[in-house]
Amino acid sequence: MPDAKAETDRFMTEVRKRNPHEEEFHQAVEESVRWLMPFVLDHDAYRKARILERMTEPDRVIQFRVTWQDDDGGIRFNRAWRVQFNNAIGPYKGGLRFDESVNLGILKFLGFEQTLKNSLTGLPMGGAKGGANFSPRGKSDDEVMRFCHALMLELHRHIGEDTDVPAGDIGVSQREISYLFGQYKRLTNRFVGTLTGKGVGFGGSAVRTEATGFGAVMFLRDMLDQHDDGLDGKKAAVSGSGNVALYAIDMLGQLGAKVVTASDSDGFIHDPDGIEGEKLAWLKELKEERRGRIREYAEEFDVEFHEGRAPWNVPVDLALPCATQNELDTDAAQALIANGVCAVVEGANMPCSTEAIHAFLESDVLFGPGKAANAGGVAVSGLEQSQNAQRVSWDREEVCERLNDIMGRVHAACVEYGSGSGPVNYVKGSNIAGFKRVADALLAYGAV
Ligand code: NDP
Repeated sequence: MPDAKAETDRFMTEVRKRNPHEEEFHQAVEESVRWLMPFVLDHDAYRKARILERMTEPDRVIQFRVTWQDDDGGIRFNRAWRVQFNNAIGPYKGGLRFDESVNLGILKFLGFEQTLKNSLTGLPMGGAKGGANFSPRGKSDDEVMRFCHALMLELHRHIGEDTDVPAGDIGVSQREISYLFGQYKRLTNRFVGTLTGKGVGFGGSAVRTEATGFGAVMFLRDMLDQHDDGLDGKKAAVSGSGNVALYAIDMLGQLGAKVVTASDSDGFIHDPDGIEGEKLAWLKELKEERRGRIREYAEEFDVEFHEGRAPWNVPVDLALPCATQNELDTDAAQALIANGVCAVVEGANMPCSTEAIHAFLESDVLFGPGKAANAGGVAVSGLEQSQNAQRVSWDREEVCERLNDIMGRVHAACVEYGSGSGPVNYVKGSNIAGFKRVADALLAYGAV
């Protein structure tokens, strides 16, 4: 059998050649292929059909200009994309990101990860991602509305309830989804589930807002349970204070852990007494309603604010990076390990660098990769699609129960493929389980 390490290096040389200057995409592919290559080499059918090569090449990339008018009447334009990565097991599905940093390489990394993640949920969803190098931060509601409407003027040609179903991500919350859906409906004259994350009053699902953060903590609970441990009494560091972070903090508190940090791109706050009760409600209002900055929490509750820094030097049992990619590097990982962290769960997509992940695995720290741990968001988006198709709406309890079941199945799939001596290797398990379902569909289709 060929040497897996040499094959991975050869494979990555080709990926880099075909996709120059797309560092995040290279990183995401390498982190998966490293675990997938031995599995592929063991299965001749995958190798002969060049499944791994095909799964790292998007089905289609759409790029377009978005022209819009600011409040002073000035003409502005941005670049937008939709990367339809793979629809082997269902219609394309994945969020839209609005942030100045967005480029094609970042969206390809997210689309690739999304394909494996969606497969892990067991639901019929392919993988996609999109967005624009536009940030809603500092823009008025009217400007955000005009931008969203202008973007949908082009995007609506490429999406549909059985084709491609976008949702939110960084910079795209319910406000943006509502503007986008309103315009989609106007352009097509159809009320269908082409976007998820809609308001509950107009086709949205209960618990979609909470789903990613809640799901990540359910996954963490299952990881600890698998290793005869639990959340009760544990101290946690969370980064970010957006959609994922806020509801991860919420669920950690509900299950008995104490969260002592939260952050945004300005820095982090450290509240040793825990972000809970009225303080958490205040933080949600600050971030979801007033769109304020995390330093205001420090001023309000008289706790420390650490400008320009991430929270990974605070001694904790649990760490949940929930902000953005590559926010936790080797130094941060070493600091967490030195302080005795026992589990790290990625609420964000690829928040830990490759070296940080290896440091955790080598130190036997339980590590939950984003493609498994943050699958709760897309899982409830999938449930929203089902509700829209049936023209029904399930109550909170039913959706929560289904989310809990799905996260349990994602965890079980990781355990099935990631068990060996020592703690479960969730990185290996999630990659192989996610890959297998898509790969088998591609094999069945022949040369597509
Ligand atoms: P939001 O826009 O709601 O929040 C993002 C948070 O991260 C904000 O607090 C933001 O601070 C902070 N942040 C962004 N960039 C940086 C940076 N460079 N350094 C430090 N902090 C930063 O996004 P979400 O919560 O929706 O998404 C967070 C992560 O979770 C992303 O990786 C996303 O892809 C992933 N994810 C999201 C899902 C969802 O359902 N929403 C589903 C699965 C994954 P600031 O306000 O200062 O920018």
